[in-house]
Amino acid sequence: MAVTKVFPASAIRDAYALGLREFGENYVQEFEGKHPEVADLEGARFHLIGHLQSNKSRRAAELFSVIQTVDSAKLARKLDETGAPLEIMLEVKLSEEESKYGAAPETVAALAAAVRQCSHLRLSGLMTMPPWCEDAEQSRPYFRRLRQLAEAVQLPGESMALSMGMSHDFEAAIEEGATHIRVGTALFGKRKLPQGEAP
Ligand SMILES: *Cc1c(COP(=O)(O)O)cnc(C)c1O
Repeated sequence: MAVTKVFPASAIRDAYALGLREFGENYVQEFEGKHPEVADLEGARFHLIGHLQSNKSRRAAELFSVIQTVDSAKLARKLDETGAPLEIMLEVKLSEEESKYGAAPETVAALAAAVRQCSHLRLSGLMTMPPWCEDAEQSRPYFRRLRQLAEAVQLPGESMALSMGMSHDFEAAIEEGATHIRVGTALFGKRKLPQGEAP
């Protein structure tokens, strides 16, 4: 997936012209601004990969096809209430430090069950973001754990997508079974940091 946060709508259009169809955005409000310029791109799918506050769930359901960052049953129910046919991934927090968001691994089975009960939602997989480290090998144990967790919570006949790996560690993620890698910098260059975001 092409991660286009901070970049203008023209970057999405350029990437689309080169054949990319899956796009990741972090902020509902930022994508709301770009959406009119990319709404005509047939077959393009937009994934929310940043934290979603439940008061923005209605707008998010209008703008995105996939919400990768569901980490509570309450948020799942809010999204279900919108009636939009959404694809859902559960964001899992596999490390104590850093990321504030994501469900604890021991809660994922219950959360998966809650999403499966929502009639408008389709659970498609798990997503994670390991603590940032230049050395991709440091990410590998997290990728492996996400895959094992997916195997543990999937139902017979269900196949779980794994959204894991970014510009600096996507090779390791693919080796560990990633179905979605989320690549920004390696495609578009360095971003200017939005206020408040850690590097
Ligand atoms: C920004 C971001 C990415 C892309 O990171 P790069 O290092 O630029 O490839 C991937 N996933 C999430 C959740 C992000 O916020």
